[in-house]
Amino acid sequence: MTDNTPPQPVDLGGRVTYDVPVARVARATLTRPEKGNLQDVHLLYQLDAAYRRAAADDSISVFVLAAEGDDFSIGHDVETLFSTDGMDQVTLEGGLGLGGVEGDMAWENEIFLQLHWRWRNFPKPTIAAVQGRVFAGGMMIMWPADLIVASEDARFADPVTAFGIGAVELFMHPWEFGARRAKELLFTGETLTAQEAAGLGMVSRVVPRADLESTTLALAERIAARPTAGLKMAKKAVNQTLEIQGQWNAVQAAFNLHTLGHAHSRIVHDGAYLDPAGFPLVADIWELPEDWEQQEEDT
Ligand code: ZN
Repeated sequence: MTDNTPPQPVDLGGRVTYDVPVARVARATLTRPEKGNLQDVHLLYQLDAAYRRAAADDSISVFVLAAEGDDFSIGHDVETLFSTDGMDQVTLEGGLGLGGVEGDMAWENEIFLQLHWRWRNFPKPTIAAVQGRVFAGGMMIMWPADLIVASEDARFADPVTAFGIGAVELFMHPWEFGARRAKELLFTGETLTAQEAAGLGMVSRVVPRADLESTTLALAERIAARPTAGLKMAKKAVNQTLEIQGQWNAVQAAFNLHTLGHAHSRIVHDGAYLDPAGFPLVADIWELPEDWEQQEEDT
């Protein structure tokens, strides 16, 4: 008799686990639910380690990204932004700890542009399973996925114009929302519901929260039953079409504007890389508890 119990998830460092919940399907799970899966450098490189593990394993056909807790991810952990602690560099950028625009740009290029874009180009099909708040950096780790399954309570926002920045670092907005809706969402910082996101084509399926995992794994299994060669070709054909439309150049151009936003802020706001006036403007959507700062100190 064989034991069909799936092996326990492997902890990749405290922020992400890796497991194979069904045959031929690897899953990375964000495990920082007490912080809304806020992303620091450790979380992002552990996520990259999960991608690398799935890439190197020929028995894996599909990669799933999921998250524990009420929220998929509420964005970047601004307390640790520009930290090099926990980095496992993927580019030849260098200068990550240097001062001035040079250091900021190098750091964001490594972490946000190059790391995320290589996930977008992961050869095998990927599915993100999202719930609750998917804000700012949360969308940045979701968008590289080929398919997105959202629970009914999922909501999406990029409110960073409040901080004097045009958009988050990975500028997929016009492709994900359409140009006019992208502008409205960026100008207002308003949230998009799962149903609205499905209507725009950003989300593949909307399901009750209780069905998020089972629906995602069933979809992954269905895909994984097909030969990997065809899947890789289909993915590459769609992605290359987007590149022929100029997607990668547009993403890089917007990234440069983003770093210009940080540079502007550092000049006019006493060295701060974000306009501090943004925090009250986003308090309603981020729903941060009043004692948030205290919780940060306690951990
Ligand atoms: Zn930034």
